[in-house]
Amino acid sequence: MRRILVLGSTGSIGKQTLEVVQRHPDRLQVVGLATYRDYKTLLGQAAALGVRALGLVEPPTNGALAQSLYTGVDGLCALAQRDDVDMVVVALGGAIALKPTLAALEAGKPVALATKEVLVAAGEAVMATARKYDAPILPIDSEHSGAFQAMLAGTPPQVERLILTASGGPFRTRPLHTFDAITVEESLKHPNWDMGAKITIDSATMMNKGLEVIEAMHLFGLRLEQVEALIHPQSIVHALVEFVDGSVVAQLSLPDMRLPIQYALLYPERADSPLPRLRLEQIGQLTFESPDPARYPCLELAYAAARTGGTMPTVLNAANEVAVRAFLKRQIRFTDIARLVEKAMAAHTPQLATLENALQADAWARAFLNERLPSPA
Ligand code: MG
Repeated sequence: MRRILVLGSTGSIGKQTLEVVQRHPDRLQVVGLATYRDYKTLLGQAAALGVRALGLVEPPTNGALAQSLYTGVDGLCALAQRDDVDMVVVALGGAIALKPTLAALEAGKPVALATKEVLVAAGEAVMATARKYDAPILPIDSEHSGAFQAMLAGTPPQVERLILTASGGPFRTRPLHTFDAITVEESLKHPNWDMGAKITIDSATMMNKGLEVIEAMHLFGLRLEQVEALIHPQSIVHALVEFVDGSVVAQLSLPDMRLPIQYALLYPERADSPLPRLRLEQIGQLTFESPDPARYPCLELAYAAARTGGTMPTVLNAANEVAVRAFLKRQIRFTDIARLVEKAMAAHTPQLATLENALQADAWARAFLNERLPSPA
């Protein structure tokens, strides 16, 4: 029996994780739940699953909850180190998940990672911690799960190139001169995946793929030149691994996050799943194209940050988190997201990517951009 703690249980990935666990009661059990501030949903989940170890980053101020709760980021760290936890699912939104991830790894717990921001903000420190405590990081991100599976066809030194696919988002064919008029509602309509708001906006700007390229470099120990992003509007092929002999192994499935979640939770086993099966004759065509830099400036910024290295990816990620939140609150335009991220990067002097420097750079970038945002509309 694998006992699971879910950090971020009230979000899209968190809810699907609980669904996967409930389908495998003989192998998986939820022993802990935590989220940012949605305590009503958290308590509902706890009651339904009989879970007593609960955490909230921001507990309600009205004292509605019992004091036995784990609170704040430190509380989530303590939760992640509990003796009765065998695996920690990290699905909290954004770099806030960094410290609890490190806490889990330091306690030797395998981490099933959905929050790519953790590896973008402090990839060196996180991977070093995973190695030091011999705690594996299993990707829940669909492309990285696909890559992880495809890589089993060879050994790590035999991997020459990794291709991550991207849907291209809802604005792949929209005329460029209309981008200033893009609304929040239009941005939240993703063609293939049903996801949380932040990642859906990141998919529309393709910052999501930029973050995933950096995530993949850390997870698989690859250089930037070895990782490529390719637009594939059908979202059927999730990743392709090219080996040194030129053979390319790909992972395919219908777009459904419950598959990568189940693979990570049960790894190295595979088990039955009720998910709809891929029928290629019904899909008909699989197409691929290179992303246009003018359409997706955020992807270019991510490449630039990865090329610079050090704390620059940390700043890219933190600035993007602030800018996307401001766009969702209608404080800025869609096209301002890239503009603001670029501004923060231009003002940053990169440091070595130690954990301390990363935390500082993250805080600096958030303060820098928050000072430059217009007040809410
Ligand atoms: Mg992904």
